[in-house]
Formats: sequence, structure tokens, C-alpha cells
Amino acid sequence: MLTCGCGRWMHTEGIEERTGEHGALQWFIRSECRGCGLKVGVDVPGEQAHGLVDRLLWTDEALHRLDRMPPYVAGLVREEVEQDIRRQGERVVTYETLLRPRTEKRIEWDPEAKQRLDRVPAAVRAMARIELERTAADRGLSRITVSLMEEIKTKYFGMSSVKRET
Ligand SMILES: [Zn+2]
Repeated sequence: MLTCGCGRWMHTEGIEERTGEHGALQWFIRSECRGCGLKVGVDVPGEQAHGLVDRLLWTDEALHRLDRMPPYVAGLVREEVEQDIRRQGERVVTYETLLRPRTEKRIEWDPEAKQRLDRVPAAVRAMARIELERTAADRGLSRITVSLMEEIKTKYFGMSSVKRET
């Protein structure tokens, strides 16, 4: 979370999606201090923005797309997408989130498993998450656990943090 020079937490006001160098997604995050009125804007790569956003927010682009839907559809989409974003442990709804297919079956993450996923390098995190949720869905599991992660990691990434006796 951003702290203002006056000592208060800064409130996230909005997020714009921008394309940075090499086509990477950049977010321009606008924050404001409600104590002294100071406003700042920070340009960061999407995957590094986690601590800079203080609550569930839609990017301007995602909001714009939602605004163009018929009101009764928009209401349903908003609810469904926000539920999905919370389930994934994310905070920001992007234009791409709206296009992402949402699974019918809700798969939960054990807190330990979620913590472990957060330590996975950003470049492979999305792939790991999809692989794990797909495997869980295939097996009819409703939860992702650390032991499932270990199994998948060994199988797909050829590594394991568990030392085995040989
Ligand atoms: Zn301030």
C-alpha cells in the first residue's frame, strides 16, 4: 500500500492499462491521499502492482467495456467476474479478465497453496495456476493443496522442493 508524505494510507482512485516497452502490459495507478489531497500516479508492470492497489478495482478499460453492455447483462457480468477475481486472489479486473472464460466449477485454494503460488516467479505463475486448476477439475477435486502442487511441479516442471531419499 502507498503511504502519503503526511503519514496516511493513499486511496487507489483508478487504473489505466497501458502498453509499455516490448508490448508488456503496464498499469498506470492513480492514488489520492484523502487527508491532505495529494495525488500521485505510478506506472508499473501489471504483475508488480499488487501492493499498490488497496481494494478490488476495475481498470478504466474494463469499466468502459462493462458500460457498453446492456444494464441487466452488466450486473450479472460484474458479479460473476468479481467473484472469480476474489477466488483467484487477485484485485484488479482488466479488459482481458472480462474475456477470460470462467470455470463453472469453483476451485478453492488452500491458504498454504495460495502462499506458495505467490512465490512462483510471475512469468510462470499464470501457467502454473491454470495447470493446477485444470488438473483439479479433471480429477473432480474442489481444492488445490500443497501436495497437489508438489505433484504437478514434479511432473510438469521437473523439480521438487521436497528432498527425497535415493
Ligand atoms: Zn497526505
